[in-house]
Amino acid sequence: MDADVIVVGGGLAGLACALRLQREGLRPLVIEAADRTGGRVATDLRDGFLLDRGFQVLQTWYPAARKLLDYEALDLRPFYPGALVRIGDAFHRVSDIWRRPAQLPEMLTSPVGSLGDKLRLLALRRRALSGDLAALYARAEQPAPALLRQLGFSERIQSRFFRPFFAGVFFEPELNVSSRAFEFVFRAFALGDTALPARGMEQIALQLTERLAPQSLLLGQRVERLEADGVRLADGNRLRARATVLATDANTAANLLGREPVATRGTTCFYFAAPEAPFTGPYLVLNGTGAGPINSLLCPSNLSPHYAPAGQALVCVNVFGANHNPDALETAVRRQLRDWYGEHVAGWQRLAVYRLPAALPVQHTGVSAPGAPVRVGEQRWVCGELAAPPSIHWALASGDDTATAVSRSLRSGRSPDPRPRTAA
Ligand SMILES: Cc1cc2nc3c(=O)[nH]c(=O)nc-3n(C[C@H](O)[C@H](O)[C@H](O)COP(=O)(O)OP(=O)(O)OC[C@H]3O[C@@H](n4cnc5c(N)ncnc54)[C@H](O)[C@@H]3O)c2cc1C
Repeated sequence: MDADVIVVGGGLAGLACALRLQREGLRPLVIEAADRTGGRVATDLRDGFLLDRGFQVLQTWYPAARKLLDYEALDLRPFYPGALVRIGDAFHRVSDIWRRPAQLPEMLTSPVGSLGDKLRLLALRRRALSGDLAALYARAEQPAPALLRQLGFSERIQSRFFRPFFAGVFFEPELNVSSRAFEFVFRAFALGDTALPARGMEQIALQLTERLAPQSLLLGQRVERLEADGVRLADGNRLRARATVLATDANTAANLLGREPVATRGTTCFYFAAPEAPFTGPYLVLNGTGAGPINSLLCPSNLSPHYAPAGQALVCVNVFGANHNPDALETAVRRQLRDWYGEHVAGWQRLAVYRLPAALPVQHTGVSAPGAPVRVGEQRWVCGELAAPPSIHWALASGDDTATAVSRSLRSGRSPDPRPRTAA
């Protein structure tokens, strides 16, 4: 045997899985196709700037992140709890008044929605925060816009706040996602900080990787096929283990299991170097105008100076979808940026554009909390996005929980349940 357990994929799910196996006294082997761990949580260093591969954040409330990550070592830099929303020709601040009660008067007069809408936020908050996660995912499911309408929210607050803010999380411009997925994300924003590690999102993966025994990691090797007692690599070599855990992205896992592909959503992320930031403060800026290509914008260097060399600022602009012509899109993005921030935007230099067509699986309906870990054959398991909703929390939680189940199964020495569970 080359290992007790082969873990296919070294993203957050695979790393969490391998670490739990290691703690259980087993010998995991993570086989990762790329030359680095972390999967979709990645940061590139370019000309002294830290560029996260697509805008993403860590929500400090995530229970699995609190359990598995050392937040202090990540040196987390929180966003303002709320956002700056572009409405008409001005920016308006929206605040989470439970976390910034002093902003109540400003919130009550903000044009983001009616007074009734703001009162309805109370009802939404109460609903999204009630019960545990199992209860949240067991609630009747409907499209998020239908839930918002049912709660009485106006079209104004949906287009000026809910769509730009939450649609950006799912890369679904119309927020066409399950109400359960929406409430999970609402809860995460309400109960903790939204933050970036001071030296980039990849620090999350590096922190986990450092805890893994070096011999437990095989980089730059792609698993091409699953076999009864292990895997076959793209170079033809076979590796054997007592159990195998698939921890790849949903579509690779589906392909390896001979299943139908999963629909995904994409995003495009531009990074610009600017002589100075267009605004001060750790804000996420949202496009509430309903026009133009930009969904959101931020200056990571406003949160942490490590994101840009001294004397410069990093601007990150996010657009829905990944099938645009990047040059034409950049022209349209720059036009909108000039409209928002003035002619000096012409001096911003494009550092990179990340086009991520398969950023996340769609979460329209049938979104449920993973129950028991998903077994798909004799000592073959799946964690990550084919087994759980897409998010840092669920990647970590499903990796960790699956490892516990694998360990228990290997230790019991009993033959596994002959009726494999179906992956969600
Ligand atoms: C732009 C963007 C923004 C996001 N924003 C957020 C956010 O703000 N908050 C949040 O919670 N989540 C966010 N997410 C989602 C979150 O990043 C993912 O759900 C999570 O990182 C998935 O982890 P994973 O380990 O399941 O999968 P992955 O990160 O996809 O890891 C799978 C790994 O498997 C490897 N692999 C694939 N095929 C093979 C093979 N055949 N052999 C060997 N290795 C293989 C891949 O190289 C990869 O390293 C975002 C994602 C993106 C792309």
